[in-house]
Amino acid sequence: MISVVEPATEQVMAELPRAGVEEVDAAVAAARAAFPAWRAVTPGDRATLMRRIADGVEARLEEIATLEARNAGKPISDARGEIGMVVETFRYYAGAPERLLGHTIPVAGGVDFTFREPMGVIGLIVPWNFPLAITSWKVAPALAAGNTIVLKPAELTPLTALELERVALEAGLPEGVLNVVPGPGRTCGNRLVEHPDVNKIAFTGSTEVGRGIMAGAAQTIKRVTLELGGKSATVVFADADIEAAAAAAPAAVFGNAGQDCCARSRILVERSRVDDFLAAMQSTVNDLKVGDPLDEATQMGPLISSSHRETVASFVPEDAPVAFRGSVPDGPGFWFAPTVLSPVSNDDRAAREEIFGPVACVIPFDDEAEAIRIANDTEYGLSGSIWTGNGSRALRVARAIDTGVLSINSNSSVRVTTPFGGFKQSGVGRELGPDALDHYTEVKNVFYSTEEEG
Ligand code: NAD
Repeated sequence: MISVVEPATEQVMAELPRAGVEEVDAAVAAARAAFPAWRAVTPGDRATLMRRIADGVEARLEEIATLEARNAGKPISDARGEIGMVVETFRYYAGAPERLLGHTIPVAGGVDFTFREPMGVIGLIVPWNFPLAITSWKVAPALAAGNTIVLKPAELTPLTALELERVALEAGLPEGVLNVVPGPGRTCGNRLVEHPDVNKIAFTGSTEVGRGIMAGAAQTIKRVTLELGGKSATVVFADADIEAAAAAAPAAVFGNAGQDCCARSRILVERSRVDDFLAAMQSTVNDLKVGDPLDEATQMGPLISSSHRETVASFVPEDAPVAFRGSVPDGPGFWFAPTVLSPVSNDDRAAREEIFGPVACVIPFDDEAEAIRIANDTEYGLSGSIWTGNGSRALRVARAIDTGVLSINSNSSVRVTTPFGGFKQSGVGRELGPDALDHYTEVKNVFYSTEEEG
């Protein structure tokens, strides 16, 4: 059995059967059997079904958001936003089946055209930090393109994926099109990766596991998209609105208790403004409300587990340069106080490794060239921000930073309509926006001769 723990109380909130290799094999067989009929559903009917799934999630938004908030330990206001995004994602990709256009290509002797064909059975492997939101980024485009799915949620947070499966069946999705197997990565996830009848793996998780998935997928030449870790930089120039940058910084690194692949956990500040920046940031961190995820006022919840808290704590040893820390509730719960380290060198462990907890590193720099060098001095390349009052500099630096998702005078990363994904070891491929559909379809080219036969 899987015992699902509520991180804010450390109590078991649900128990469910743990899937293993046999269940994965059965789910793949069901998905394979359902594929011919699902790909043959007309684009209009597929779109209608997807809109019904969006309506079904929306009708139960409060209930599903509460489940997510309790299971992942995230503030209920954030959980509502995430489930709202699930609804939006299904509605957005409901527009896709009727717009999966090919090309006609001028050639000699005939007509040449392309189709966007579904890939077949897609294995989805997702993490625990944004359980249903990230699931929907994969399920919705995969279904829109006519694929069938085996979905493996994280063992720590399987509950909302199972709710989505229920909602989809109630909406009329045929049996076998979406199959959820809650189980461990090393058995269920690994079996999906090596299964000869799975055409593609779409994975979100750590770079370490992603590396193994890429290697495993090579055996059967599976398509892979990987959304992996990050160590993103916010770059704050002296000419920026320092108050605004400092007020926005805590949410960008302490949001979801720092368990966010996009966390801007390296804050590069031009040396002359470091003190001003820290003073302004401290007042926001002091006001940060850390506590019960179900309290409407809460801005940060606990970490996901006790062992993860130990890992995060290892980045703040006794002699760490702690500039200031927020506070946490007493009593049970995997709490960790939001912590700002300053000054940090980009060579320090806290600045190099993904902490995945509420720990920010403030790193001073002296000029634009040094800011770009430090921002790029990482194996990752997922997100980042540039704060400056100089528009030319903003665009110059944006072009120079090797990262997939950037914002200027803002820390926003994710929108349903725009592509999301990483450079370097932050991943392969893009999710969301129109680009995601390229990763759930194969291009087929057909030449039709117009020459007279014989
Ligand atoms: P993880 O890599 O430990 O696990 C992710 C998923 O992979 C889980 O479902 C897990 O069961 C499964 N898994 C584990 N070992 C496996 C194996 N050997 N074979 C197949 N599947 C396996 O990651 P996590 O701790 O759940 O999530 C945190 C990580 O996810 C962080 O590194 C974070 O940056 C990353 N992340 C990235 C994005 C993004 O979009 N780039 C988004 C969210 C999280």
